[in-house]
Amino acid sequence: MNQRVPVVEKITKANDRIAALNRALLDRHGVFGLNLLASPGAGKTSLIEATLPRLRGRLRVGVVEGDLATSLDAERAAAAGAPAVQITTGGACHLDAAMVNDALPRLPLAELDLLIVENVGNLICPASFALGTHADVLVASTPEGDDKPYKYPSMYGRVGALVINKIDLLPHLDFDMERFRRGVAVLSPDAIAFPLSCRTGEGLDAWIAWLMARTRQTRGAG
Ligand code: MG
Ligand code: ZN
Repeated sequence: MNQRVPVVEKITKANDRIAALNRALLDRHGVFGLNLLASPGAGKTSLIEATLPRLRGRLRVGVVEGDLATSLDAERAAAAGAPAVQITTGGACHLDAAMVNDALPRLPLAELDLLIVENVGNLICPASFALGTHADVLVASTPEGDDKPYKYPSMYGRVGALVINKIDLLPHLDFDMERFRRGVAVLSPDAIAFPLSCRTGEGLDAWIAWLMARTRQTRGAG
């Protein structure tokens, strides 16, 4: 072995191999996998709670919850009606493909259309660990400020879809939507954005329509 290959690169390659196994498992069952990324408090779990009832009778959804220490979010997802599996990272600040590989057999994959993986709240290292999901969705929220794309370019540079949560708070904030979206456009020009409020329900219809369309595409291809 080449001793000079950096350790980080070896870890990334091992992770990518397991991520490919996860992707194959999801594809075999025709499940569209989503990696939900955000900083703490942006509203990942609230988005899942708002999404599940709107998909009832339309898509069958399973949830993997990544959390530093507690199972509170998995309990919220289960209460909202989805089979939910908890990954407690024991302090690790991101999910990796092996953790998801452990969780997948604990879900009824054959009975699911959509799998939502809620990553650990963190805008830095989750960007470096592919999980094998089909799409990365970044949940931003207006109280975090409009400078986030400029401060976290590696995360904002890999998103396929962006939820901009808590738009109901805009009248009370200095959040400049145009500045925020300019930052996103430079890093991820093809990202589709969903400004919405999980609290009021405003904007959720477009998000739900996108989820349904993407899930059907994956099932059609699988
Ligand atoms: Mg959460
Ligand atoms: Zn980490």
